[in-house]
Amino acid sequence: MAETQKTKKKAPAPKGGGKKSCSVKDCKRAYRAKGFCFFHYAKWRRGEVEGRPARYDTCHKEACKKKIVGHGLCQEHFDAWKASRKSAKRNTEAAPAAAPAA
Ligand SMILES: [Zn+2]
Ligand SMILES: [Zn+2]
Repeated sequence: MAETQKTKKKAPAPKGGGKKSCSVKDCKRAYRAKGFCFFHYAKWRRGEVEGRPARYDTCHKEACKKKIVGHGLCQEHFDAWKASRKSAKRNTEAAPAAAPAA
């Protein structure tokens, strides 16, 4: 009987089904989210993973495709967000901070 086993070392990283693991080359850390381990996930969120776009390249607002200038929002929505925060603070201190949830 011929052995069909090819090589013992470096099995390809599992994708989708089965156990997930960090998709960054040579990273053996436990899977966390978005195809990364906790370490690279954090880096990716900061836009520090090479060759991977940060969480959002464009404004978080649905149907808005403008470029991000700050806080995950385009200039227009960023200004609107700042304005809404300001007015919310003025009107009622009880309003919770509207930080974009992950
Ligand atoms: Zn990793
Ligand atoms: Zn926008």
